Amino acid sequence: MNETVIAAIDQGTTSTRCMIFDRQGRTRSLAQREHHQTFPRPGWAEQDADEIWRHVQRLVPEALAQAGLHHRQVAALGIANQRETTVVWDRTTGRSVAPAITWQDTRTSDIVDDLVAKGATDKVMAVTGLQPRTYFAGPRLRWLLDHRRGLRQRAEAGELLFGTMESWLIWNLTGGLDGGVHVTDVTNASRTMLMDLSTGQWDDTMLDLLDIPRAGLPSIRSNAEIYGTCVAPLQGVPIAGALGDQQAALFGQTCFEPGDAKCTYGTGAFLLINTGPERPTPGPSVLPTVAYALGDDAPVYAVEGSIAMAGSLVQWLRDALEIIPTAPQIETLARSVDHNGGCYIVPAFSGLYAPRWDQDARGVIVGLTSFVTKAHLARAVLEATAWQTWEVVEAIRRDLGLTLETLRVDGGMTSNHLLMQMLSDVLDASVERPLVSETVCLGAAYAAGLTVGYWSDLATLSHHRHVAAVWRPQMDAKVRKRESAQWNRAVDHALGWVLPPE
Ligand code: ADP
Repeated sequence: MNETVIAAIDQGTTSTRCMIFDRQGRTRSLAQREHHQTFPRPGWAEQDADEIWRHVQRLVPEALAQAGLHHRQVAALGIANQRETTVVWDRTTGRSVAPAITWQDTRTSDIVDDLVAKGATDKVMAVTGLQPRTYFAGPRLRWLLDHRRGLRQRAEAGELLFGTMESWLIWNLTGGLDGGVHVTDVTNASRTMLMDLSTGQWDDTMLDLLDIPRAGLPSIRSNAEIYGTCVAPLQGVPIAGALGDQQAALFGQTCFEPGDAKCTYGTGAFLLINTGPERPTPGPSVLPTVAYALGDDAPVYAVEGSIAMAGSLVQWLRDALEIIPTAPQIETLARSVDHNGGCYIVPAFSGLYAPRWDQDARGVIVGLTSFVTKAHLARAVLEATAWQTWEVVEAIRRDLGLTLETLRVDGGMTSNHLLMQMLSDVLDASVERPLVSETVCLGAAYAAGLTVGYWSDLATLSHHRHVAAVWRPQMDAKVRKRESAQWNRAVDHALGWVLPPE
């Protein structure tokens, strides 16, 4: 009964998890629930923030019960969340006033095009580090204020609160209507296109450009400090850490030194590399972002390459083409041949993210001949994830002069050994998979545990890291060169495919 633990919530795109960790960073329990996603029009993706909050209220006691723990044994709570998903709620009813608009939603393209047409791109990049894109949260907030009746007046009157998912959860967990704390963390704020990346504060020029009233915005806080104290279901427990999910994974993978990099392979893939205390200025192909800021310490920065489609291409092979019955079976099929038969698949189903950033790109399969079988297609699907990662790593090398020696990986796709070997081969770098695969929750727990002194310092956390598997490059340099050139040619076919409207 004297044992204390750290709890973490990972509020993800398809589900929310609550996990409990012990002092060695080992998992004690995991409870998980999926929530609904709705796609009311092409390019739209919505969720119900009230449903997600109801899930959190159930998951936390479930995780505690599984581990046989009482909430008084929780030393602190950390939160990680899907980033860029935007929620607006009523401070007097405590309910969301519109569906949450998720990070995949592209309805803000007119707002973004308008910023670009006004010549604001350089200004936006100088302040936020980001190119104007539909990916970020600020334009979604603007869209809600413009399109939902009465919201702008109510926002200006101070009746509404804005936030990303961690803001919404922290407000509710700390009492909601009854004294809820309205904060965001600097990693989530850095993805709104409203924050000055150098100062870590909301920027008036950006608020003016997007016509967003300051009244509803949360205050920006570091990733490791006590934001407030929970009411039920974690009565009395301090919320002591919050990070966007990809930054949480970077932290959970203990990428604390400049040059340390991780990539999370789930639906999409997100590669972040720690770049140290100076704000990085990469070109437009990869994004500068805050990696983490701990209490009053100066922030540490990262560069991120986001890949829209990775595991979702495997799902497409399974669900749309019905070539494999389950995702893991892609490995058996792909291993039945020893090359791709000349076939390449570029999964630009909804455009390409880093490093190409072409929303008019569409998917292509090239190199088809009568020789190509479903096994070659399976191989090309896996190679698509490897080569997309290679493109991001090349962009980082080009823009920042950083060479990757080791890539730490996590996420559902990393159980695929063939893919991990392909990655190591195309990157010409070691690939390492840690023992604890739930790096997002672990990162949030680590931030919270550091704040309350449960763990003393970063070195202690690094000490907890155990590598479960390592892959080393085996590909001949000439083959790598030829195959990378072929991949680039394949991508050329995908770019700019969508015709402008007549
Ligand atoms: P998310 O957190 O984005 O929901 P996960 O980390 O749970 O994703 O990973 C699920 C994704 O990984 C799915 O898109 C699935 O197709 C893919 N996946 C799972 N197992 C394998 C495998 N053995 N080989 C290739 N892809 C896989």
